[in-house]
Amino acid sequence: MNLADTLADLLTRENRLSFGEIVLTRSPEGSYSATHHEDEGKTTGLEPLDSVRELREMAKNDATGEYRPLKTAPGLKSGWITTADGAHDFLQRLDAIYPGLFATWSAYESGSLAPVPLRDTLGRQTGMYRFAGGISDEMALRLKTELCGRGCLRHIVWPIDPGSPGEHASRAAGALPLLCTEACTFAVNLARTLAKEAYDLANPPAATEP
Ligand code: SF4
Repeated sequence: MNLADTLADLLTRENRLSFGEIVLTRSPEGSYSATHHEDEGKTTGLEPLDSVRELREMAKNDATGEYRPLKTAPGLKSGWITTADGAHDFLQRLDAIYPGLFATWSAYESGSLAPVPLRDTLGRQTGMYRFAGGISDEMALRLKTELCGRGCLRHIVWPIDPGSPGEHASRAAGALPLLCTEACTFAVNLARTLAKEAYDLANPPAATEP
């Protein structure tokens, strides 16, 4: 079963799925729609966005007009609806809002995508990002709380250390989780900043002779 078939199958069985800040539905006639969850059930007053380009544009900035560099940050605009006749087309539209997230969930659910421990991701960094690998456990927890917990809707399934099982995510009825199976570039960047600050504090520049 390909990804579009998996999506079609899920929406045939459940009719409605929440996915991050959006709600996916399938009509009795078989078409697929997505709206912001605040607009669920509205039949008028929504702007139709029926192309990948329009949806990408909509998702670029948040409801206050601020650029959203992280596509799973909360604050997606409301007031729109997208409707597609086929699951393949619908999936491409979902990818315009949450790139690759349906595929990530599907691969994780089937057991073909293993989460990458944070220390493995950080250990691969080179150049100015090599410092990222030096974070303590406390810094890793701070990263999860301050960056991921406050600014991202994804559910983390990667463990901090290789060999740790990590948290297993399972799908609740009526919902599709936005999973994080590997720390993103924003997390790597913050890890570098935290580790560099700690290094600089522990290794102050030598005082110069007068
Ligand atoms: S590491 Fe994952 S959960 Fe954290 S901010 Fe990046 S994408 Fe979101």
